Amino acid sequence: MNPDYSLKNDTCRDQLTYNQVMHFLAMTFSGHRDELIGIKNLAQKIRQGIERINPFIQQATQSVCPRCKDVCCISKHGYYTCEDLMYLTALGLEPPHMIFGRNDTDPCQYLFEHGCSLERSRRPSGCTWYFCESLLDYMEPQPAYREFDDSLQDVAGLWIEMTEEFKKISTAKSSKPIHSELCSNDCHSTT
Ligand code: SF4
Ligand code: SF4
Repeated sequence: MNPDYSLKNDTCRDQLTYNQVMHFLAMTFSGHRDELIGIKNLAQKIRQGIERINPFIQQATQSVCPRCKDVCCISKHGYYTCEDLMYLTALGLEPPHMIFGRNDTDPCQYLFEHGCSLERSRRPSGCTWYFCESLLDYMEPQPAYREFDDSLQDVAGLWIEMTEEFKKISTAKSSKPIHSELCSNDCHSTT
């Protein structure tokens, strides 16, 4: 399996794959502390970047989402990718408790009465990068939109740098790319 594909697109939707990924990441991060300092720094910058843009997104979702007729916070969007789990591990954070095997169209397990219960920088990346048309229609005319968009691009660039760097380190450590073990065919893509 192409490790690039695995890291970018696969979500850990079953308990076994999730456990394997978490175990592997724990071993990798504890065994290669020095080599992974750069990854940890990038993860911190990503987190700070997401926290900086959070207020702008929040004011938009608070205004737009309560009127939504087709809420996007359904179960199939609430799973973490292998990249997400690597990012959380680099931050020294545990992913939230996860229930597997839910129906894709059920409300996301992290959706509470007043919205998502996870702070934005800890959500699955699919949530972080998703802006529906209604949300964009609300955001784009605002004066702060350009600055928000630039910051979002910066965070996206850091994310790519972090994942590419992790792949480089991991493939250098093993003749067999680690992500072929991390993300087996048991991972499934989401939209
Ligand atoms: S982000 Fe868009 S699709 Fe999702 S709940 Fe808000 S308005 Fe609806
Ligand atoms: S994690 Fe949060 S933002 Fe993402 S789908 Fe679930 S409730 Fe929505």
